[in-house]
Amino acid sequence: MKTVLAIFLLILAGVMAGKSQPDGRGGMAIRMADDVHSYANPQQAKVTHVDLDWTVLFDQKIIKGSATLSFQRPPDQVNAPLILDTRELTIEKVETSVNGTVFKPTTFQMGAVDKFLGAPLTIQLPPNAKKVRVFYSTSPNASGLQWLSPEQTAGKKQPFMFSQAQAIHARSFIPLQDSPQIRITYSARVRTPKGLLAVMSAAGNSQTSARNGDYRFSMTHPIPPYLIAIAVGDLKFQSLGKRTGVYTEPSMLAKSAYELADTEKMVEATEKIYGPYRWGRYDLLVLPPSFPFGGMENPMLTFATPTILAGDRSLVSLVAHELAHSWSGNLVTNATWRDFWLNEGFTTYIERRIIEAVYGTNRREMEAMLGKQGLLEELAGTPESDQILHINLDGRDPDDGATGIPYEKGALFLRYLEEKFGRAKFDVFLKNYFNSHAFQSITTETFVDYLDQNLLQKYPNIVSLDEVNEWTEKPGLPKTAPSPKSDAFEKVAAQAKNFMDGKALSIQRMQKDWSTQEWLHFLKSMPENLGAAKMAELDKMFNFTNSGNSEIAFQWLMMSIKNNYKAADARLENFLISIGRRKFVRPLYTELAKTPEGMKRAQEIYAKARPGYHPITQSSIDAVLKK
Ligand SMILES: [Zn+2]
Repeated sequence: MKTVLAIFLLILAGVMAGKSQPDGRGGMAIRMADDVHSYANPQQAKVTHVDLDWTVLFDQKIIKGSATLSFQRPPDQVNAPLILDTRELTIEKVETSVNGTVFKPTTFQMGAVDKFLGAPLTIQLPPNAKKVRVFYSTSPNASGLQWLSPEQTAGKKQPFMFSQAQAIHARSFIPLQDSPQIRITYSARVRTPKGLLAVMSAAGNSQTSARNGDYRFSMTHPIPPYLIAIAVGDLKFQSLGKRTGVYTEPSMLAKSAYELADTEKMVEATEKIYGPYRWGRYDLLVLPPSFPFGGMENPMLTFATPTILAGDRSLVSLVAHELAHSWSGNLVTNATWRDFWLNEGFTTYIERRIIEAVYGTNRREMEAMLGKQGLLEELAGTPESDQILHINLDGRDPDDGATGIPYEKGALFLRYLEEKFGRAKFDVFLKNYFNSHAFQSITTETFVDYLDQNLLQKYPNIVSLDEVNEWTEKPGLPKTAPSPKSDAFEKVAAQAKNFMDGKALSIQRMQKDWSTQEWLHFLKSMPENLGAAKMAELDKMFNFTNSGNSEIAFQWLMMSIKNNYKAADARLENFLISIGRRKFVRPLYTELAKTPEGMKRAQEIYAKARPGYHPITQSSIDAVLKK
């Protein structure tokens, strides 16, 4: 009851504030009471469905067309306008309809632009209006779209375009209520140049080779807007299992299908623990290397970086992660971006459970140890206020909250609960949590209330609310945080020590037996100031500079910068120019920028690399190099 009352009061406060005073972000717009990253007014008019009609124009780098939005207003709000989020959209005209078939022009106002939020679009509505249709086009600089020239693709012949809407970039290609607590269904008709295939996070993706340039899609489950996604390119499909498959450029198809062969097994393993997969198909789209993230859990069609294609299936925890989002994130969604850990902490925890089910406990523990190591390093360099799971992002870009903390600290919190209550009880709890909140967006408070009632009180005197509170509302890591353990890593650390002590290594056995995770731990076990001579020795034995594994290459290049190891210079430049995944390129530029000489080099490389980066990566690196 506490939560319900609190939400009611917040809504009331929001409505009253909106009626009487400007909000400082674009005139008289009414912001949602509890999502500081949206201008929408769902308490007055709430969008339930959007119907897209798009033409994808590669020569102008824009999408042009219309979005028809269905919405509902409560009986006491029949004169309320509809307020949508937009960013850099050109609005041609807006029409409304009472019966859903006949549309008439209406008036609209674009509010002032906020650098993080974009601008509110306020549409006047007659009483009884049920739909609006917005005719618009996107900007060539839309933050949620990346346009690749043929040279930037694997095939080099056709252009490519893909979207990335999380956190608040959907508004740069669709005028809509861009808050994760709005849940909408969508349908789309997409026209592209003939010969190219459009795919979306919906049903309707074509598995055949027919390419007529006219495609239709439909998502019938209510999803948050950040999960609307599209890609257009020279794409081909290969099946991986009865409901799984992969789309990518033809030249990458065989390699991708090999790497992702365990996908169907992963779906089955997850269903066994957390209940049925509810989305129908689970396909993956392997994108060109400029994709700024590892993966994006777009429903029915995960978008993935090609940097997971290691050739030995050692980096497929990314697939486990994106698949896990089909429960945590897509089915039960963070209501605002300050609750992001509800998406990512749960998903990282479930990812490791999937890895355990498919590849065994050893692999899970190695990945969990690497995760905790990374978290401790990150915590050491993060201000206290940003170490909190339930982070305050008011006045900030929600992308600021996308650090490793919601992922790894959140996962450790769930592992802590699992260890305290026992796996059997905790699994039942999580399965019930997903079932009882399916297709809903919830806040941290709602989760904690549910946890209190269904676990803490049900099995009293095991974990207190104060302890939960320490995890969700306080900086740092509680003393009781779990410690993953791996025998394999102890052996790896022993080899690292042998190397430092000048003893011989069993090179052949290491090369034959070690997984990517073991190699990463080996490199991370080296001292910070290893020195160029020792680097050269390692490189001679294991050829790290030329590693085709993106994670190992990244770790090695970080060490190369720190130790001024010149033999890796060419590889570093090539890596930064050919890959746009932010997880890799941001730390590399940051490390380079620490010395004046390195900064100069970073700027030279960046001048060549920037045109190939996604807008999200560009803005991250701009920030690193402007200091
Ligand atoms: Zn995730």
